[in-house]
Amino acid sequence: MRRDYEIKKEIVDTAHMMNTKGLVGTYEGNISVKHKDRLFLTPSGHSKELLTEGQIIVTDMKGELLEGQLKPTSENPMHIKCYELRPDINAVVHCHAPYSTAYAQAGIKLETNVSPEFLLLFGDIPIIPYGTPGTSNIVKGIEEYIQDYDVFLLEKHGVLAVGETALEAFSKTMSLEMLAQTEVIRKIITGGKSNPLTEKECRILLEKGRSNHGVKS
Ligand SMILES: [Zn+2]
Repeated sequence: MRRDYEIKKEIVDTAHMMNTKGLVGTYEGNISVKHKDRLFLTPSGHSKELLTEGQIIVTDMKGELLEGQLKPTSENPMHIKCYELRPDINAVVHCHAPYSTAYAQAGIKLETNVSPEFLLLFGDIPIIPYGTPGTSNIVKGIEEYIQDYDVFLLEKHGVLAVGETALEAFSKTMSLEMLAQTEVIRKIITGGKSNPLTEKECRILLEKGRSNHGVKS
């Protein structure tokens, strides 16, 4: 039986890690954890670096406020939509991690078939077409992918990851950011060229198990 304080601490620890790793600016990004029929969320407009357990908002699964003095994240509808579509997940993380977000802003797919690690970890990174922030339209179109994938680029916006825990969703976001950063560096040193795994190399790896639902090496 998890206590509310433990859930709030999970969110605060994740927020601090996201800040330390440079995944969030001062006010950007949001995190939620589902526990039974309640949702624990980061507040709107507050620093992730300085976030405390007392600032975490609790709502029901429709977004009605149950506990907290602050306003919940404006992306509450996006979080709720993810939980509706994926009853197996307990956490959602959203941020504007700079390298990944550059690809999201450009609407350019990341190449996941450039190393065994990234291919097995992600398989693919779907791009969800642009939708207005603060509404469930922000993830309109995610229905097509969310049963098979845990990590997404939101076109012209940022990154979304779901997981069993906030730590897991954060870890996938961090891996995505490493993939994007590596791709940028590779394109700089090769003048934009790729050196992807061959079809045979991909097939052998994928027979071991594919993800974006989290195969770990
Ligand atoms: Zn955002």
